[in-house]
Amino acid sequence: MGDALGVVGGGQLGRYFVLAAQSLGYTAVVLEPDPHSPAGAVADEHIVAAYDDESALDRLAELCRAVTVEFENPPVAALEYLARRVTLHPSPSAVHIAQDRRSEKRFCRDIGLTVVPYVEVNDDNDALRCADGDTVASLFPAILKTARLGYDGKGQRHVQSASQLVDAFASLGGAPCVLEQIVPLDTEFSVVVARGADGEVAAYAPTHNVHVDGILDASTAPFSAPVVAHGHDAAVRIASALDYVGVLAVEFFVSGGALLVNELAPRPHNSGHWTLNAARTSQFEQQVRALTGMALGDTAMTHRAVTMVNLLGDRWKHGEPRFALAREVDGAHLHLYGKHEARAGRKMGHLTVVSDQMAGDTAAASDTAIHTVLARAKRLRDEMTISDGSGARR
Ligand code: ADP
Ligand code: MG
Repeated sequence: MGDALGVVGGGQLGRYFVLAAQSLGYTAVVLEPDPHSPAGAVADEHIVAAYDDESALDRLAELCRAVTVEFENPPVAALEYLARRVTLHPSPSAVHIAQDRRSEKRFCRDIGLTVVPYVEVNDDNDALRCADGDTVASLFPAILKTARLGYDGKGQRHVQSASQLVDAFASLGGAPCVLEQIVPLDTEFSVVVARGADGEVAAYAPTHNVHVDGILDASTAPFSAPVVAHGHDAAVRIASALDYVGVLAVEFFVSGGALLVNELAPRPHNSGHWTLNAARTSQFEQQVRALTGMALGDTAMTHRAVTMVNLLGDRWKHGEPRFALAREVDGAHLHLYGKHEARAGRKMGHLTVVSDQMAGDTAAASDTAIHTVLARAKRLRDEMTISDGSGARR
């Protein structure tokens, strides 16, 4: 097996971890129950088993010198089991905090950061009490989110008024939730930060994010705004307070000029995919470096500006997108995750466009470069997409 690294989870983030590990001369082992996963397809060994299958965890520990996760939802007990047998980063306790919106928010507040106004709705009684009480009236209109297992806007219900709360809670299966005020967003951005076991920290350029229907649509770096420096500091503070080892992403809201922490991801992040094509070290190579105790890589951008746009399954509706178009465009990079079924809202791949100017090149103003890459990426994505009419010609 050679010198192997392991990853729990088989999605696209795991796929890029595997590729980064291999590019540094490691072999890679994936634990993922789906036999046809994006990461399993490129792994040196794919253990097809449930995340909490003890004999599978034993095998993973036996094969690997260190293991990480590519999503926040493996059972914590399974991670604790693994951590007793092999080096595991990030720690089960850090993943535990990040996999539940309640603990995530409490943790952020405890270290002095601000989150969206919210209350916990843990059971039917809480829901009834909140629906009756005046204390939460100021939260409406609000979003009810399941505390656990939500992603890409899933597990969320808009609740206009208290009278809708009990039904909304029931429609989410009665699982513990947070009820968040819908805050007017000036903008959204994220910071991806890596932290080594020795406490060394390296952050990437803050990235401006646009979500559509609760799913990330476009990420552009660098992002500059008055609160951005605070976002960088907050991300570093979170990583240090968690005694975090690995790559951590922090999603921020900016509302009325104030910085609010939205959520944490204990792993590389969709908004950091641009680092594959426009940073000296990608977020996935950084994950390998932090995991194995190597010095962290240089996070500097290699281009003046970069935009990543997601390719959701919706764009497959009238036929497979015209991938060839992206290959013809200078500065465009097409990434496909090898998923066979293109469902609406499913992340099938992404497209990255880098600016003509290199980082440090003073020829063009940064703002212009940012607007240009964003427009180019969106235009190329639209041109690639088969619309109803042109689909008929195929
Ligand atoms: P997920 O885990 O699915 O990414 P998020 O909580 O990050 O869930 O919500 C997804 C997106 O929905 C956010 O990035 C933001 O655009 C919007 N959103 C979520 N919560 C709020 C809120 N309280 N106020 C305003 N917009 C919100
Ligand atoms: Mg989010």
